[in-house]
Amino acid sequence: MDIKITKTTSPKQKPNDDELVFGTIFTDHMFIMDYTEGRGWHDPRIVPYGPVTLDPSAMVLHYGQAIFEGLKAYRNGDDILLFRPYKNMARVNISNDRLCIPPIDESFAVEAVKALVNLERDWVPKAKNTSLYIRPFIIATDPHLGVRPSHTYKFMIILSPVGPYYPEGLDPVKIYIENNYVRAVKGGIGFAKTPGNYAASIKAQMEAMDKGFTQVLWLDGVERKYIEEVGTMNVFFVIDDEVITPELNGSILAGITRDSVIEMLKSRNIKVSERRISIDEVCSAAESGRLKEAFGTGTAAVISPIGEFIWNDQSIIVNNGEIGELSNMLYDTITGIQSGILEDKFNWTVKI
Ligand SMILES: *Cc1c(COP(=O)(O)O)cnc(C)c1O
Repeated sequence: MDIKITKTTSPKQKPNDDELVFGTIFTDHMFIMDYTEGRGWHDPRIVPYGPVTLDPSAMVLHYGQAIFEGLKAYRNGDDILLFRPYKNMARVNISNDRLCIPPIDESFAVEAVKALVNLERDWVPKAKNTSLYIRPFIIATDPHLGVRPSHTYKFMIILSPVGPYYPEGLDPVKIYIENNYVRAVKGGIGFAKTPGNYAASIKAQMEAMDKGFTQVLWLDGVERKYIEEVGTMNVFFVIDDEVITPELNGSILAGITRDSVIEMLKSRNIKVSERRISIDEVCSAAESGRLKEAFGTGTAAVISPIGEFIWNDQSIIVNNGEIGELSNMLYDTITGIQSGILEDKFNWTVKI
């Protein structure tokens, strides 16, 4: 399929690198393609960025049949680097399957990202820790009330130049261990990147922020005992010399940063386990001084060190509230590979 390009006649003023925050500015163009039952995905095109027209009865607005992705493009001199984009598009199809959305051609979707980013290459910021955030997403567009899979969809890609997720630098965050609300349960949609999971999380996040915390740590939805994720990130604990992250059990999102961290630790012969880990295990490790580090992983923040947990009014301080050695190493190594400063021996980056 050829991508038809229609360029804008009124390009926007680009922001300065030092005024970038997360997710507020969008570039001049966007990618769209349509799906119609019987015809498949068709009419891939790049058009000027702007509002889309939807029927008020569009199914996505009522039943939430939608999925999304998030990845980044980094500038390395004249080159632009994508980080593991095929993984994101493979995950689109995992999410699509769960949401009854027809599959996309994963390679073509990466080509669409490349074509759009290439057209917008001047929008990829230059300063350290900045990047171009890429948001592919799919929405159900049938004008129809009544629950069933839509027969029509739109796949779109929008781009946003972003600054560092934490403008003050890698600062350990305070985490509230959530006892009341749950994010997902096995058999539900927790492993899919779909808006409903976020809608379910907002109330807990707001209450945690009101209490002075940055994020929520989610426990499993059945026993409220085993650790799942932190906010919208996967989570890792360093206990003695073992690095532990919850196994992918059907309610956890399989993060690409999570996978990259696991690969990187393995390549350095650091013991890393994907297994069930209970909040009690973390608490007793902390009490006996064996909990060395804890951190979240995700595309937006990359590595987010955790300095403190609150569990039923009890405070668990991690590494004196300071950034751990491993968290630092992982942050420097992953962002180094992403931006092309360090050798990419895993073959993760794709040049545009
Ligand atoms: C996107 C996401 C992550 C992180 O995935 P990455 O591929 O590393 O960005 C983790 N948890 C949830 C719930 C997510 O939606």
